[in-house]
Amino acid sequence: MMSFGPPSIDAAQPAVVGDWDLAETTRNLYDLFDERARATPDAVAIVGESSTLTYSQLRHLALDVSADLRNAGLDREEVVGVFMRRTPEVIAVLLGILHAGGAYVPLDPAEPTERALLLAERAGLRRVFVDATTATRLAPLCGKTLTLIDVDAVHRTPSAPLDTGPSAPGDRSLAYVMFTSGSTGRPKGVEVEHRNVVNLLLAAQRAFEFDARDRYLAVSTLSFDISVVEVFLPLICGASLVLRDKQLLLTQGATAAAIEQHGVTVFQTGPSVWKLLLEGRAAFPRLRVAITTGEAVPPVLADRVAKLADIVWNLYGPTETTIWCSGHRLDLPDGLDDATACAAPVGACWPNMPGVVVDDDGDEVDEGTPGELWVGGLAVTRGYRFDAERTAERYVARADGERYYRTGDIVEKTSSGVLRFFGRNDDQVQVHGVRVEPMEVEELVIEDRAVRQAAATWFDHAEGRSIVVGVVLHDDEQEDREVTGSLRDRLAERVPTALIPARVIAYDQLPLTPNGKTDRIAIRTAAEALDHQPVVDSADASLTPTEHTLRAIWSATLRSGPIRRNDSFFGLGGDSLAAVSMLLDAEDAFGIDLPICTVYEAPTLGELSHRIDRLRKDSRLRPPQPSSTRGSAFELVQRGSGRPVFFCAIETHLARDGAWRVDAPLYAVNYWTLGRGFSRAGDVASLAAEHVRDIRAVQAHGPYRLAGYSFGGLVALEIAQQLRNAGDEVEMLFLLDPTEPYRRANSPDLQRRDLYDDYRKTMRAADERVAHRLARHALQMVRHPTDAVSYARKRLSIAPMALLQHHDVWPWIQYRIVDLHGRRPNRVTARLLPEDRWQGFWYAAQRIARNYVAQTYDGPTLAVFLDRGERHDAWAGILGERAELRVVRSSHGEILADPALHQWIDLLADRLDAAGTLAPPQEAHAHWVA
Ligand code: ADP
Repeated sequence: MMSFGPPSIDAAQPAVVGDWDLAETTRNLYDLFDERARATPDAVAIVGESSTLTYSQLRHLALDVSADLRNAGLDREEVVGVFMRRTPEVIAVLLGILHAGGAYVPLDPAEPTERALLLAERAGLRRVFVDATTATRLAPLCGKTLTLIDVDAVHRTPSAPLDTGPSAPGDRSLAYVMFTSGSTGRPKGVEVEHRNVVNLLLAAQRAFEFDARDRYLAVSTLSFDISVVEVFLPLICGASLVLRDKQLLLTQGATAAAIEQHGVTVFQTGPSVWKLLLEGRAAFPRLRVAITTGEAVPPVLADRVAKLADIVWNLYGPTETTIWCSGHRLDLPDGLDDATACAAPVGACWPNMPGVVVDDDGDEVDEGTPGELWVGGLAVTRGYRFDAERTAERYVARADGERYYRTGDIVEKTSSGVLRFFGRNDDQVQVHGVRVEPMEVEELVIEDRAVRQAAATWFDHAEGRSIVVGVVLHDDEQEDREVTGSLRDRLAERVPTALIPARVIAYDQLPLTPNGKTDRIAIRTAAEALDHQPVVDSADASLTPTEHTLRAIWSATLRSGPIRRNDSFFGLGGDSLAAVSMLLDAEDAFGIDLPICTVYEAPTLGELSHRIDRLRKDSRLRPPQPSSTRGSAFELVQRGSGRPVFFCAIETHLARDGAWRVDAPLYAVNYWTLGRGFSRAGDVASLAAEHVRDIRAVQAHGPYRLAGYSFGGLVALEIAQQLRNAGDEVEMLFLLDPTEPYRRANSPDLQRRDLYDDYRKTMRAADERVAHRLARHALQMVRHPTDAVSYARKRLSIAPMALLQHHDVWPWIQYRIVDLHGRRPNRVTARLLPEDRWQGFWYAAQRIARNYVAQTYDGPTLAVFLDRGERHDAWAGILGERAELRVVRSSHGEILADPALHQWIDLLADRLDAAGTLAPPQEAHAHWVA
């Protein structure tokens, strides 16, 4: 059961690390290594695949490299490329470059040579270290713009007296330039200074309780900045690094074997790789420290990693803020309090790396309010190499004068400083006008039985932006269109339409970036490429002209992704409301009348098109009939001899079910037809005035028969008042569980209910999973009503809206906002309104209802309520003596279905028959229970 106290997510999270002497961060990285190397010269520094280096050997090699570079005239802060195999020598080269006062630029030989060349140019490299396996790849450029330094040549220099020279760099010197792909895919070279790295390593040392006895397994490619920790942390602590190629990770069982063989104590990798590693049946060897980093880690996986070691961290940070700037302990009891979150928390900011969560204007937001994370202090790197413009864009000064890096990540800070991660701010997608996080879709897809792995992202296509999910299916599932098709069908059964991915692509293995992160850009590109291919589905290839036109109307109505001939309007997320607006458009387009039932009988694109074609042929044979479906009053049931009944906002499926057993035509009087305009509708009176006009177009004069369900009850009342004021007779007003007339002429202002209790009730009724997740937000809004709208606005920019809307919770929150801000939406509140969907209508109806002052009505009335509760009593005070109030045992929704439907329709039929001929019932407030 959920709790309502303040979030307690991090009570047991330790203050990450104690503060340390800031003076230490003024030392350079090489010096920290050198100190250890001189203290323990014979200790093993690096265990390579086929060779091992002691600290003293490593130091000698590094100093040789440095001497060579200085002899060759290396400039201060000159960047030097490293394009080498992963042998212990490469580490000596890194150290040598640092000692000589240069900065290293890793170029990954596992990537295409073009990439290395591109980065060499972007970084402005003049020298690149190569080895026998890589030299030839850069040969074409050799001597032109690049000097290649053969590492073996350095190695073989007969030892002249060891040139220790002073290690040149100061703490503000450049240590390395690391290229990140960023979400755009255009590489940016991040310049990182010694003090940035040293500060981070000191933090990591304390966080991992790392000492000389540890063995760090280093598999990350040097061009990924997390490699900096696995390479240098052991070396500044007198520990060993076990150097392996990242291929190790991909070989079944090899990582576990290496860990066991070398007594590895610390190992880090990203969630994508963790997933692969933990898939094997064999138990993973126990570690002292396990780290997951680089990508959001789903709680389920985090939970598994948490069991692998004594200390388990989820570490977060962009390259621009020096590897990591915050972390969360997953092994502690409170490490994962919210199993329903999209991602495990990324923890508290590490010391000297303050983080602030800000809004669009850069102002700090309250606890519990999501915003963009900006990180400052010693984490902040110098900027992007040769790109002052982008540096100025992303590295900004705040009012305190400090420099911060805007991460572009959306997080929220809890009361104790723990950050919850929600995704990148450029990753949201609007589906059917609903904001969706790809991360959330991913979570849902992965719950499917056929799916082993999933990664979601967005992709662009001709009709907009949609979600694509790359999946790896379980071995026994066939990887073909049908499986992914049935996956979508299964999703449709349990999740809101907006969360169903427009495309699912099956892979043998999810694509990974060279850094071992899931390559979402590759999935996106694949989806976009698929969309440009001619559609293989023969049904689609040959769309008829009618199908083409209708498809355009559907896609405008539903704002969905690709629509195929066999897709059903309702399967794509259409509802009665959407059906009405779609049919009105279709009527315009094809010049025919389309009764609402058509779409129920012919729900797919193909079937409905076929139906339209038939109707068009028929209409050419018959003389044109006056259209009965214009305006807000349209015919649902034609047959019947009595005067028509105008029913406000009745469910259209009544017409389909043949349930209307009243001997009179039935007209829906429907504010739905205002489309999105309804959200902006002013008040009940003007709405009713429009309906009166449309009703008169069907029936010019009274007596009228009016009816209304739910909010339509208020509208029907007002229509009745207006018709009577105009001198017309209203023969019958029928109200079906009508919305409560909140305000009456001369009644005191409504007492505001006990919001908190009401909140608890609603939360309990809602799905617990969602309720738990929303508890914080709803509480915040209810407790701080004056900030509710701005809070919701912020929350909304990242909230899993589709999930919210799937449950009663979101309407409830909106309802509260209506309560607190009972006026027409302004620019801010308007953002809360999903204008074109049910909720938008619901919101508007609530707002309008709240502002409607009901006058007493003494015409003949039949009103059916669910109980003798608030609604019943409120109406009893408004309706006069000629009103009959009844009670049926049902619910607001079920009252439109049998058995309740049967009962009130029979009663209504009976009263309509008798209307005018019988005296009003003796016992006006009779009681009738189903
Ligand atoms: P790239 O954009 O090339 O992947 P980075 O390695 O700098 O470059 O990626 C940093 C981004 O990775 C962060 O901004 C964040 O979006 C994501 N990230 C890193 N670590 C985590 C984590 N532990 N949880 C969630 N997201 C993470």
